[in-house]
Amino acid sequence: MADCIFCKIVAGEIPSKKVFEDETLLAFEDINPQAPVHILIVPKKHLVDLFDGSEEPGLLGEIAARSAAIAKERGLAAYRFLTNTGREAGQAVFHLHFHLLAGRRMGWPPG
Ligand code: 5GP
Ligand code: ZN
Repeated sequence: MADCIFCKIVAGEIPSKKVFEDETLLAFEDINPQAPVHILIVPKKHLVDLFDGSEEPGLLGEIAARSAAIAKERGLAAYRFLTNTGREAGQAVFHLHFHLLAGRRMGWPPG
């Protein structure tokens, strides 16, 4: 999708530090990490948010499973996995993405 920063990352038009890639998914390091480990996992297909993504539960399952695979590969004993849906929830980039955060103690509830 034109003017979507994550579509440009998927297309390689904007560089990223890739963590994992297959036909449907891309995982890369967040540019402004909020924890020692902060990885974004995105579908290559442009979906706006989780409302949009809910049409494709198989894809969501792949993303969730991939988060665990990445955490296992890195030997993480704990991690947080989340998506912000809508501006008020903190979504700033409107291409569906999930955050994988780890490496520090996480507070609850989130701010
Ligand atoms: P949101 O607030 O939408 O849930 O999260 C968007 C995330 O994308 C933020 O954590 C932000 O740091 C990250 N981000 C925004 N632009 C870029 C970029 O160009 N490259 C990378 N790697 N991350 C980005
Ligand atoms: Zn996009």
